[in-house]
Amino acid sequence: MRMFENYSLETLNTFGFKVSARYFVEAESVEDIREAIAFAARENVPVVPLGGGSNLVLSGNQEALFVHVNLRGKEVVSRDGETVCVKAGAGENWHEFVRWTLAEQAFGFENLSLIPGNVGAAPIQNIGAYGVEIKDHFQSLEALDIQTGELKSFSLDECQFGYRDSVFKNAARDHFIITSVTFSLDAELSPRLDYGRLRQEVEQRSQGSQSEAFVISEAVCDIRMEKLPDPMVLGNAGSFFKNPVVDESVLSKLQRDFPDIVAYPFEGRWKLAAGWLIDRAGLKGFRQGAAGTYNKQALVLVNHGGAGPDDVLGLAKHIQSVVFDRFGVELEMEPRVY
Ligand code: FAD
Ligand code: NAP
Repeated sequence: MRMFENYSLETLNTFGFKVSARYFVEAESVEDIREAIAFAARENVPVVPLGGGSNLVLSGNQEALFVHVNLRGKEVVSRDGETVCVKAGAGENWHEFVRWTLAEQAFGFENLSLIPGNVGAAPIQNIGAYGVEIKDHFQSLEALDIQTGELKSFSLDECQFGYRDSVFKNAARDHFIITSVTFSLDAELSPRLDYGRLRQEVEQRSQGSQSEAFVISEAVCDIRMEKLPDPMVLGNAGSFFKNPVVDESVLSKLQRDFPDIVAYPFEGRWKLAAGWLIDRAGLKGFRQGAAGTYNKQALVLVNHGGAGPDDVLGLAKHIQSVVFDRFGVELEMEPRVY
């Protein structure tokens, strides 16, 4: 395993920020990660696991050891009439993994097609889209304890998954590097199409020789490509803020002033569409220097070219302040800032 010093992370964060890591390693095995964390302990620097870099903001040059978790491998562990149990290394690309599951007749993640990043980061915020979250099919994961170097298995309950949330963003934050994840998928396809225009998109397509699961996956890809910026073209980290969840009383008050506010029932409360709040605050397509909000989805902050982390974080602060002044609602950032 080769240790790099002052290593550029420009191509390893989807905002494309030109920042460097004091130390960087490419870890291809559990043993590589163990070696890396021992090195970091000796040098007294923190360890930062890195996947595809699509949900973080690197706020400057980093006095840390970045471990690019590149453990590979995908396998069907077991299969019966109802479930197909699959396991993947943390370094597998998420979208390629999803497509592989469909080819293996293992269903449930069609709606999570084209989410950037790697399998190992998927549990961190319990990735979700179009009404599906990974917790719906999660079985267990293995992670290396950064303090002890021991491997620990986490069950569904231990991961404490919530809405774009897990134990790895809370009590276990910075303590573990996920090495593999095991999912329990369905042997039969049960399409989940009651979300936005997904059903309509699927129904418009002829199945031809493709299986229905691939048709759904492709419909999801097409909707996403139409509405979300490709990080290879326009740097971004997806939704920059979480959708705020408010009480009924807060929603009722907002509805008096903004009758068309977009809200969905959520665990006895209401989830507001953060993108709608930003749009209605007049900030869709807004630009401050080289940072801006995307003109087709205001929730996505983009790097128009040459923006640095201060530009994006400055814009984020501005949006938070304008939205709070207008609606009295706080927006919480989704990507992790380092
Ligand atoms: P990174 O950005 O590399 O890391 C994210 C966090 O996880 C960091 O704190 C990092 O330290 C930690 N981490 C990474 N790997 C490991 C590991 N092996 N062990 C422990 N910690 C680790 N998210 C959704 O939920 N739904 C969406 O629909 C969605 N759409 C997106 C669309 C676009 C265009 C973009 C750019 C992002 C989108 N995201 C979405 C956000 C992002 O893709 C996901 O959060 C994804 O899981 C991040 O994966 P990553 O490998 O890039 O993680
Ligand atoms: P959208 O379809 O325009 O919807 C806007 C918001 O309304 C979404 O945030 C979504 O919440 C909510 N919503 C819409 N229909 C809903 C329904 N039937 N039930 C409950 N909530 C509903 O959103 P979009 O920006 O095009 O994104 C599409 C999907 O991809 C969403 O699920 C979104 O979360 C996901 N996505 C996530 C990221 C990220 O970085 N986290 C980036 C891009 C897209 P939810 O977000 O809870 O679904």
